[in-house]
Amino acid sequence: MNREDILGILKESGALLEGHFLLSSGKHSNRYVQCAQVLRYPHYAELVLRNVVKQLKDLEIDLLVGPAMGGVIVSYEMGRQLNKESIFVERKDKQLKIRRGFEIRNEDRVLITEDVITTGKSVLETKNLIERAGANVIGVSCIVDRTGGKVDLGIPIYSAVQLIISSFEATDCPYCTKGTPLVKPGSRNIA
Ligand SMILES: [Zn+2]
Repeated sequence: MNREDILGILKESGALLEGHFLLSSGKHSNRYVQCAQVLRYPHYAELVLRNVVKQLKDLEIDLLVGPAMGGVIVSYEMGRQLNKESIFVERKDKQLKIRRGFEIRNEDRVLITEDVITTGKSVLETKNLIERAGANVIGVSCIVDRTGGKVDLGIPIYSAVQLIISSFEATDCPYCTKGTPLVKPGSRNIA
């Protein structure tokens, strides 16, 4: 599948919205990504992540680790396609932790799985947790890479698609000027 096919699936499933959006930061943008929308369709999840899996052919991977919530389904589906063990880590008392009896073994070669990477903060936190367990993080995979190549995680990023989303101050937004109705994503109401 090429880039246009993947963007088509993301749009059709509602994972990629185009219009005029109010972000939680207060800024405005013309695109909005919510990967959970594509993961609700197992067939689409399979297709989109197959594009990531094919980039991993030459990697030796022991374990996939997805940070909850966004990375959980991605980790499962990639584990299914790669036939590899797949677990998740989650936040408890604000700290990312390995729970539920899951184990990250010393010397394991671990791939982190995310839905979307923007600042990379959650990836770095997951990487630190895995490294403290004595394992090696060999990369991170995701559906949408929004970093624009500007974030150095110290590991390669394998994505289904790279996407730059610009945001604007409300006082300096071209879509406000155009008069496009402003929508708050995730809410049914128009702001
Ligand atoms: Zn605006």
